[in-house]
Amino acid sequence: MEPEQQSCKVIIVGGSIAGLSLANMLERVGIDFVVLEAYQEIAPQVGASITIWPHFARILDQIGCCTYNHSHLYVPVLRDPLQALVDKYCNQAFYRNQQGDRVFEFPGMGDVLERRHGYPAIFIDRQMLVSALYQNLQHKDKVLVQKRLTQIEQMNDGVQVITQNGSTYIGDIVIGADGMHSHVREIMHILGQNTSSPDCFEKDEYSKVPCTYKCIFGMSKPTKGIEKGTTHTVMGKNYSYIIGSGTGKIYWFLSVKNSETTYGKGVPRYTVEDEQRLAEQHFKDRLNEHDIFEDMYRNRIKSRLTPLHEYQWKRWYFGRIMTIGDASHKIHPISGNGGAAAIEDAATLVNELYGKLILQRKLGQVSQHLSTEDFQDIFAKMQSAQEDRSKQLLEQSTKIQQGDAMESRFAPLAVKYILPHLTGETFFSLCRSAKSSFTLFSSSDGP
Ligand SMILES: Cc1cc2nc3c(=O)[nH]c(=O)nc-3n(C[C@H](O)[C@H](O)[C@H](O)COP(=O)(O)OP(=O)(O)OC[C@H]3O[C@@H](n4cnc5c(N)ncnc54)[C@H](O)[C@@H]3O)c2cc1C
Repeated sequence: MEPEQQSCKVIIVGGSIAGLSLANMLERVGIDFVVLEAYQEIAPQVGASITIWPHFARILDQIGCCTYNHSHLYVPVLRDPLQALVDKYCNQAFYRNQQGDRVFEFPGMGDVLERRHGYPAIFIDRQMLVSALYQNLQHKDKVLVQKRLTQIEQMNDGVQVITQNGSTYIGDIVIGADGMHSHVREIMHILGQNTSSPDCFEKDEYSKVPCTYKCIFGMSKPTKGIEKGTTHTVMGKNYSYIIGSGTGKIYWFLSVKNSETTYGKGVPRYTVEDEQRLAEQHFKDRLNEHDIFEDMYRNRIKSRLTPLHEYQWKRWYFGRIMTIGDASHKIHPISGNGGAAAIEDAATLVNELYGKLILQRKLGQVSQHLSTEDFQDIFAKMQSAQEDRSKQLLEQSTKIQQGDAMESRFAPLAVKYILPHLTGETFFSLCRSAKSSFTLFSSSDGP
């Protein structure tokens, strides 16, 4: 049954995890939307993977995008062979030292997660997730590709956005789900600085965005040393690996500390040659009893070198414009929480927006559109509900990276004398505590 239609239209810029999650939630509560995606296809394969932790899976389940049953994560809208996305979830975690020797093992990790939170953890292609979010929409015609946003005009009663190819869209609000290099955020800052309250945004905040690590991420054909259903962390001096087995492939990240932290426009962009050079420097790194990095790299299907910015923007909204996901906070991928933070942002925003529209309906003002002040109130509540949570995830990820790359003088001692004596559950509770308090899509009837 179609939900009752609300008198509000949302223009979503960006058709990836944040944008398509938001579209799914809006559709479920009857709020009109259009998604403008810059690229010519939704869900291109860039070689990235994503860990779906329980808090992430739960919201995906709420929006009908996945169901979890008997050790399989099903994505109902995808046809075979992707229907059962994982044939074995991550159930065993290994920590290894620089020589590739096991120093800590957590058998039954997935079982513990499932017992505690109702879902295990799985590794899949990011492309599969974005594709599932798209396929799950009833109104796919509202997702438009090759629509790169270039301009936003705010009016008293709405917004107008213009794309590079000259198309114009009118709505009540614009949500920038356009990633780390968000153009919506850039326009919002300029609009804010040109108003009577120019201090609402810090001048040139972008120059404060730091980058301390870079990362080659990729997917490879299985190697001898990585069994199905396992994840492996390898801790080297100033570098670390996370390797996990997923859908008939292995997914991996090699994070390497830069010689210095760079900021804003000073953060380098990398070429294929840069990636090759960095990979070769690490070819002899031992990953386990069987593999060195060269084995995995030569077996690769796709890979890419990227800088890892880590930052949370101070203010996420202005007037009728708001940012969500990576456009608001860029979290180091080591904890696998950037996508989860993005979907939580979408859930919180829809909870607030839908709550306001329902209140308006109760007051008998069904056809009346929300005012700019109403949206300011919704956006302020959304940011205040989410910012501590995403900050916590951001700081936790930074600490995990510092620990895994043995930045502290005491790290080698901890790896040798403490880590081997921890139980799996203690270790997990120590470093992954943020996973227990998460946002839900409360406007849903789902789980
Ligand atoms: C190596 C790596 C590994 C990661 N692993 C994990 C993980 O395991 N688990 C996890 O939860 N997270 C992980 N992340 C983080 C996760 O991928 C991001 O947090 C997530 O993709 C953010 O989603 P988003 O929709 O906010 O932004 P993005 O995914 O960056 O999407 C932005 C979208 O906006 C579009 N766009 C940009 N500009 C415009 C414009 N002007 N007009 C229209 N469209 C535009 C882009 O084309 C893109 O589709 C990882 C990140 C990296 C780099």
